[in-house]
Amino acid sequence: MTATFERPPVLFCDFDGTITLRDNIVALMKHFDPPGWEPIVSDIVALKKSVRQGVGEMFALLPSSMRQEVTDYILHNAGIRDGFPELLAWCKENGVEFFVTSGGIDFFVYPLLAPFGIPADHIFCNGSDFEGERIRITWPHACDDQCDNDCGMCKTAVIRRFPKDAYARILIGDSITDFAGAKLVDLVFSRSHLTERCRELGLPHIPFETFRDVVRHLSQGDWKR
Ligand SMILES: [Mg+2]
Ligand SMILES: [Zn+2]
Repeated sequence: MTATFERPPVLFCDFDGTITLRDNIVALMKHFDPPGWEPIVSDIVALKKSVRQGVGEMFALLPSSMRQEVTDYILHNAGIRDGFPELLAWCKENGVEFFVTSGGIDFFVYPLLAPFGIPADHIFCNGSDFEGERIRITWPHACDDQCDNDCGMCKTAVIRRFPKDAYARILIGDSITDFAGAKLVDLVFSRSHLTERCRELGLPHIPFETFRDVVRHLSQGDWKR
């Protein structure tokens, strides 16, 4: 189904817990269980520690020599949420730009997205360095001078490239890495903690379960309300 738009929509979609069924970083930590990861996650969830700081600290708990098993674990255990190919097809059909804006890490984000044919310049995530003794996360898309959230991968910086008066900006996400971006956009498709956050802050949002729900709402033009 095709739709017509006043301002063209542009989609910014989270990866962990949104495109994938679970948060891969949390799943990884639970599985390998390096001593000290739990208080770091608690501090991130309580917003006492920035995502950039916390994620960096958690990966530093793992030796670089574990690269292969860490990668294999995520690639074999991450499930993709239903309807993802349908959402990409809808975007293509309607000339709508689709960006992956992920707080995840390159060594699992790119391989998991490889089957879907998303151009590399439409995928934003953090980087990794396995050269030292411990895994080091790199931040090629850190916050600019307009964001003081210490995001790691700064979704607001990506979103701000698309001016509000020219685009209907739509964010799809589930959790903490989406909180800052959700305040900027016209509409949020939300799951989990992000739904609660949008409710608390009175942000326009539509809770969803599968990407087919998202396609249905987009086809109906619900984002214009
Ligand atoms: Mg997420
Ligand atoms: Zn930021």
